[in-house]
Amino acid sequence: MILDDEEKAIQSLAQRFASEKLAPGYMHRDTHDAVVDRGLMRELGALGLIAPEVSKELGGLGLRCTVAGIITEALAYGDFNMGSLAVTGSLMAQIIAANADEDVAADWVPRIVAGEALVSLALTEPRGGSDAANIGLSARRGAGGYFLNGEKTSITSAGQADGIIVFARTGLAEDGARGVSAFLVPGGSKGLSRTRFRDLGNRAIGRGSLFFDGVFVPDSHRLGDEGTGFAQVMQGFDYSRALLGLLCLGSAQASLDESWRYINERQAFRKPLAEFQGVSFPLAEAETLIAAARVLCHHTLGLRDAGLPHTAEAAMCKWLGPKTAVDAIHQCLLTFGHYGYSMDLSHQQRLRDVMSMEIGDGTAQIMKLIIARDRAAHARA
Ligand SMILES: Cc1cc2nc3c(=O)[nH]c(=O)nc-3n(C[C@H](O)[C@H](O)[C@H](O)COP(=O)(O)OP(=O)(O)OC[C@H]3O[C@@H](n4cnc5c(N)ncnc54)[C@H](O)[C@@H]3O)c2cc1C
Repeated sequence: MILDDEEKAIQSLAQRFASEKLAPGYMHRDTHDAVVDRGLMRELGALGLIAPEVSKELGGLGLRCTVAGIITEALAYGDFNMGSLAVTGSLMAQIIAANADEDVAADWVPRIVAGEALVSLALTEPRGGSDAANIGLSARRGAGGYFLNGEKTSITSAGQADGIIVFARTGLAEDGARGVSAFLVPGGSKGLSRTRFRDLGNRAIGRGSLFFDGVFVPDSHRLGDEGTGFAQVMQGFDYSRALLGLLCLGSAQASLDESWRYINERQAFRKPLAEFQGVSFPLAEAETLIAAARVLCHHTLGLRDAGLPHTAEAAMCKWLGPKTAVDAIHQCLLTFGHYGYSMDLSHQQRLRDVMSMEIGDGTAQIMKLIIARDRAAHARA
């Protein structure tokens, strides 16, 4: 990946911030359920490390999406969860900038970029997340806006979001995706209540349910046209899926680098472990697969920067990145022997954190469905 001087500078800024400010508190923040460190989030924003691809008019740096990917990986190397805030920032800023009323975008996007506003996206409902367009939460028209009624579940940061992008049904159930609209709901809206889950990983970010009891949303806060919000807003996922791949790979690379150091120091049979190919080859394989998955993510972001289609490639990043990372971290944990199994080392937390992305934002099966549909359609054309 060839970066210009400005891009190299922001990459090394992210790497320095990750090693000096994020890595030392990564495990400590795991003990605080569903509470984002807002001070660190604002620092990320002040340094330009959240959604740097956003235009300068809306508070961003106007950099390439590829650079956002490089920053994401660098941050995740120090703290997967703080890195995930950068991905969320990019996804939400991009959706709002592309689909919101001009005044609403001017209000929200600069605050997201500055690390001052945390926005969640609420698609999944209790009946299931894979069949994403099968939405029951209703948006009923009233004077000057809509009234939202229903439930969303499994929503990242549900308990602490300042704003929520909500998908709701404005048309008939039989209209499928065409009857779905998207809304930006301010966190303090009357009639909105929240719960928090106890999760395996991503604890500093958290997940929960949202209940909408006649929540009023003005017309100005509808994202995209009525009934087309689903297709319009879902395009944002082509971006975040490539970033999520890099998020997972950054975390795995940290475990891998620690493992290379460890096998040089740890001895067995009067030799460093590094001299046993049974120990070093699995790490060499993990290094290779991470490098290959990283190239795929950079390629996908490159397609996006060039304005070329990348839906299938983004889906490839989204299943290959987490899978490669989970396998690599698991291998690193084993490489540390009995120490690896301890809660005192980071491998267990990285494994728990990265596994979240094997489900969140769509499972591997759903990603393969997207890839298969795309390639089969090309073959028919
Ligand atoms: C950490 C985390 C964060 C999340 N954050 C958010 C969020 O911020 N916002 C949000 O809206 N949602 C969020 N989710 C929910 C997530 O998007 C859903 O869990 C996911 O889409 C799967 O839906 P489901 O859990 O209902 O599984 P189901 O849809 O019930 O599927 C169950 C299993 O069946 C498989 N399956 C389903 N259909 C098919 C098929 N056609 N072919 C093959 N296999 C299939 C699935 O892959 C899965 O393994 C999050 C989930 C997690 C774990």
